[in-house]
Amino acid sequence: MTADPMLQLQGLRKSYGGKTALRGLDLTVNVNEIFALLGPTGAGKSSTLLASAGLVDLDAGRVRLAGRDVTDADPGSRDVAIVFEGFNLLPVLDVKDNIAFALRSPAFRETEDEIKLRVGRTAELLRISHLLDRDVDTLSGGERQRVAIARALVRRPVMFLLDEPLSALDLKLREGLRAELRQIHRQYSSTMLYATHDYHGAISIADRVGIIDGGVMQQAGTIDEIYRLPASVLVGKLIGSPSMAFFQATVEGGQVVVKGAEQRLPIEGFGTVTSSPGGVLLGVWPEDIEVGPAESVGASTGKIYAVDNRGFERAIQVETTGGSFRKVVPLSMPFMQGDACSFRIPEGAGFLFDAESGKRVSQAGEGGR
Ligand code: ADP
Ligand code: MG
Repeated sequence: MTADPMLQLQGLRKSYGGKTALRGLDLTVNVNEIFALLGPTGAGKSSTLLASAGLVDLDAGRVRLAGRDVTDADPGSRDVAIVFEGFNLLPVLDVKDNIAFALRSPAFRETEDEIKLRVGRTAELLRISHLLDRDVDTLSGGERQRVAIARALVRRPVMFLLDEPLSALDLKLREGLRAELRQIHRQYSSTMLYATHDYHGAISIADRVGIIDGGVMQQAGTIDEIYRLPASVLVGKLIGSPSMAFFQATVEGGQVVVKGAEQRLPIEGFGTVTSSPGGVLLGVWPEDIEVGPAESVGASTGKIYAVDNRGFERAIQVETTGGSFRKVVPLSMPFMQGDACSFRIPEGAGFLFDAESGKRVSQAGEGGR
């Protein structure tokens, strides 16, 4: 294990014509960790991976890989493997030749016997041994993606860059392949940078998560660290299932007054609060909000705007004067669309954000989990 991080991106800037994809992006991936890069479409995830692999010219910034500055190094000399969204397979070759392709490049100089052995082992790991002689255009989506991952894996690179490798697959296949990626990670102690727009996908595979939006890293840490202290409204909106609830609020005489709600929360519950020039947004994880039938849990009222039955639980959307939120409730709560409800935010739950900049202004709320 080296003391250096496996990958270190510093101040990456990249524009395509007039379109800015990366605006000073910083990112550190440690040796042997799975780091999920989580962000919406257009956030700059693919650009980040391409820059790490050396497949785009950067306008500014440095890329360090395994302790070496590779900013100006060829892609071929970086020893990273990239798996793209969609399946970048060569249609004219069968499965085994697709997997062996990189090993036959002059950079590797492997004997055919060795190649056969490595292809065989990798195929076993990804459970595609029975497909080795098939043409790739006869494979299902899930099979193709396994082959694409096998192509990357067989090289045993120092690092994997996985660009939404599973997003084209259905839920069951996705979960299965995710488990296999974790297994591969354990077996080979490999380092992975995994780009995804899927919150569940990110937290189920990653050691650490980085929230990216607008070409900037918004926050990076373990999912626990991010829950305990989300950096901004944007992070709250991209994290959680459902994501964070936000209420318009003001700070008056040591209390947080939520717009249109009867509840006032003592400011001490939010830890140190740096001044916020405009109004604030009170952000609360939905799991922390108590909701019940009208006049049951508190005096603040809302209206059930939508009910989404999910078999063993249901998700409700609650409209209130200060904001709306979604929350998962047990089936035993008989909410119907249009019902009035009451809600309460426990003291010490939640975070204050500047309404304008979206930055967190409370330093250590006790919300989160
Ligand atoms: P993500 O992978 O998170 O969806 P991308 O890195 O692909 O984000 O894109 C970031 C931004 O850069 C987007 O606004 C996208 O439209 C733009 N972009 C990416 N690649 C190109 C390209 N080759 N030409 C023009 N614009 C691009
Ligand atoms: Mg992308």
